[in-house]
Amino acid sequence: MSGASTHEERYQSRRPGQLHVTRVRRVDRVTPRMARITFGSEELTEFLSNGTDQHVALYFYEPGVELPRPFTTEAAKQIYPHAKPKLRRYTIRSHRPELGEVDMDFVLHGGDQLASGWAEKAKVGDESIWFGPSPAYPLAHDSAWTVLVGDETALPAIAVMLEQLPEGHPVRVLVEVADAEEELPLATRADAQVTWLHRHHRPHGALLLEHAPRLTLPPGRGRVWGAAERSVVRELRRHFVRDKGLERSDTHLTAYWTQGVAQDSED
Ligand SMILES: Cc1cc2nc3c(=O)[nH]c(=O)nc-3n(C[C@H](O)[C@H](O)[C@H](O)COP(=O)(O)OP(=O)(O)OC[C@H]3O[C@@H](n4cnc5c(N)ncnc54)[C@H](O)[C@@H]3O)c2cc1C
Repeated sequence: MSGASTHEERYQSRRPGQLHVTRVRRVDRVTPRMARITFGSEELTEFLSNGTDQHVALYFYEPGVELPRPFTTEAAKQIYPHAKPKLRRYTIRSHRPELGEVDMDFVLHGGDQLASGWAEKAKVGDESIWFGPSPAYPLAHDSAWTVLVGDETALPAIAVMLEQLPEGHPVRVLVEVADAEEELPLATRADAQVTWLHRHHRPHGALLLEHAPRLTLPPGRGRVWGAAERSVVRELRRHFVRDKGLERSDTHLTAYWTQGVAQDSED
């Protein structure tokens, strides 16, 4: 058995992204600090989902920028020299093609932050432009087990992966959230052991780093998916690869945000 994905497997979850001009159809506070925003448009009936951790880039233009209509990829390119949008990445939590709807879950970490602040104030009818979806993490069917680890920004992707993993597949899940009110129901057919960690006033990721070494991994060759703050991800990678001895190719750990740094100034 090989736990490493083949080239074909890696790219099976890859369909081309495109520009979507949508309107907010619903806003639900699924927890005190998480807003689920439903985006709708006629053309989302044809949205090609890549599944798992697929994400999109939300476009935020400066207030006052007049967008040409209809707003297409070509139009975005034409105005780009004088109107560059700031981009923020969000995971597709669910997709209902029959209704032309896509849901994304926004962590409300600060009303004065670009995407978080937008989500906090979003109301039905607001326009939202985004590009995607990205390629997605392929679930390897020959993997003996899966570990999913992350903070609340990773929760949408973790929830989708739990929905997609096959019946009986052993999964260990570690999710760090602010407190018990931030827990969300996670549906799965897999054989999942879910551990919720409540941060309270501890630094972001400290509990993930404390609890990752305590995970008992099932036998055989498995894979780890994770996402959190950048320095936490670095430590998680070190732990799983150096301390637990996993092949690097069996880990997929991504920085979803960086403490003190806005997303548009990363990389
Ligand atoms: C592939 C991918 C998928 C993602 N999916 C989701 C998703 O589905 N839902 C989601 O909520 N987030 C998701 N994120 C994380 C999200 O893109 C970042 O949190 C982003 O920085 C938020 O943008 P902002 O404009 O609110 O804050 P920014 O302007 O980027 O940052 C402003 C300040 O806020 C801080 N900050 C940013 N995010 C957080 C946070 N979560 N908690 C505390 N402080 C923070 C930064 O350190 C910075 O100091 C994803 C990121 C990636 C890369």
